[in-house]
Amino acid sequence: MAERRVFDAIVVGGGSVGVPAAYDLALRGLKVLVLERRPAVGQGDNKAAIGGIRATHSDPAKIVLCSRSLARMSTWKETHGTDVGWKPGGYVFPVYDEALERTLIGLFPIQRRFDLEIDWVDARTMAELVPGINPEGLRGGTYSPNDGQLSPLKVPVAFQRAAQALGATFRFNERVAAYDVEGDRIRGVRTDRGRYEAPVVVIATGADAAGDGALLGIDIPVVPDSHEAGITAPMAPFLNPLVVDLRPGPEGKTANFYFGQNDEGQIIFCYTPRELFVGHDRECLSEFLPILAARMISLLPRMRHALVRRVWRGLYPMTPDGVPIVDNVPEIAGLTLAVGMCGQGFMLGPGVGEEVAALVVDGRSSLPDEAHEKIRWGRNYAGVEALK
Ligand SMILES: Cc1cc2nc3c(=O)[nH]c(=O)nc-3n(C[C@H](O)[C@H](O)[C@H](O)COP(=O)(O)OP(=O)(O)OC[C@H]3O[C@@H](n4cnc5c(N)ncnc54)[C@H](O)[C@@H]3O)c2cc1C
Repeated sequence: MAERRVFDAIVVGGGSVGVPAAYDLALRGLKVLVLERRPAVGQGDNKAAIGGIRATHSDPAKIVLCSRSLARMSTWKETHGTDVGWKPGGYVFPVYDEALERTLIGLFPIQRRFDLEIDWVDARTMAELVPGINPEGLRGGTYSPNDGQLSPLKVPVAFQRAAQALGATFRFNERVAAYDVEGDRIRGVRTDRGRYEAPVVVIATGADAAGDGALLGIDIPVVPDSHEAGITAPMAPFLNPLVVDLRPGPEGKTANFYFGQNDEGQIIFCYTPRELFVGHDRECLSEFLPILAARMISLLPRMRHALVRRVWRGLYPMTPDGVPIVDNVPEIAGLTLAVGMCGQGFMLGPGVGEEVAALVVDGRSSLPDEAHEKIRWGRNYAGVEALK
């Protein structure tokens, strides 16, 4: 006979967002079930992330959610006792041309309105922050000292353990294949191994979310595109901040690239292709490393000695406007979406977890109206976030 069990809330997807959401729901006293089709937490696109966590965005919702993530994760070890690979050091955006200088400085008013610490630093300070950076034409750049880095391998496990300590149940290798809806209310989900009942279902299925929308008869406009990343062998620590070089590459293939040195000394890096690869493909391309290496060595010549250990490719679950969807679905009572995290789901996750708990338990957003409006389901998706 098919297994039948009853919970207060079911979270579908144990990734960057689903695991913190499960923790926050359990923290609010709910009996939570997480269903994950892979064999462990964080094995979807979570583990593709390079681990950057910044509140330096241009969208109010992302600023507030990531500020909450930072507040929570920078103190996680003290509050929970588990290591999450936190490395402070901030983010820098080095600038070599006047137009970009104007654009980035133009974002300061909105960033500062939400209490972000961010400033322009001159070329000499930038060269101190990024030792060995190519000084030719360097004008300076932005520096946000409170941003940092975390381990995408350690964070979901830390949240899983904390959620389990509060009574949450995790079931792996179990894919949600159908949603039970009666009238205008969600009743639970079905997998190949059983049926689970709950008055609340949170969809946190990342790049697969559009398929859940199809099962539910609602439009979830998430279309993934793929990005590659890589990591070097450890080297002596020299780089504190994460570095984002927003210039398009001279090879015509890269829109920008970014990297940092993690708490184990490895340089972890990624670029944004100029022409996006839309779809679910996760095969690595032979062109990635040569292109990335040329960009890296041109910006930071000392990196010519780096030994690359491995590369990988994962997905950004994109929305049309580059901003997530975190909202209750009014048409189906009990259904909450936490999807479309784009290129920032890892840093958004801990903040989104708190917001999901507010939406579910309090029935309303915990964000300022202006921010909640940006991440509503069914909003007008026109416009694109400047730092998406
Ligand atoms: C190269 C690269 C670098 C990146 N760097 C960063 C970074 O530095 N900082 C940052 O914040 N973000 C970064 N990202 C983006 C980040 O990885 C994603 O935005 C984030 O992981 C998305 O989180 P998610 O929880 O929505 O999806 P996921 O973490 O993929 O979680 C979704 C989970 O749902 C499960 N699932 C799906 N369907 C079902 C189903 N039907 N039943 C059960 N389970 C299901 C999946 O198996 C998966 O585990 C990067 C991404 C890439 C590709």
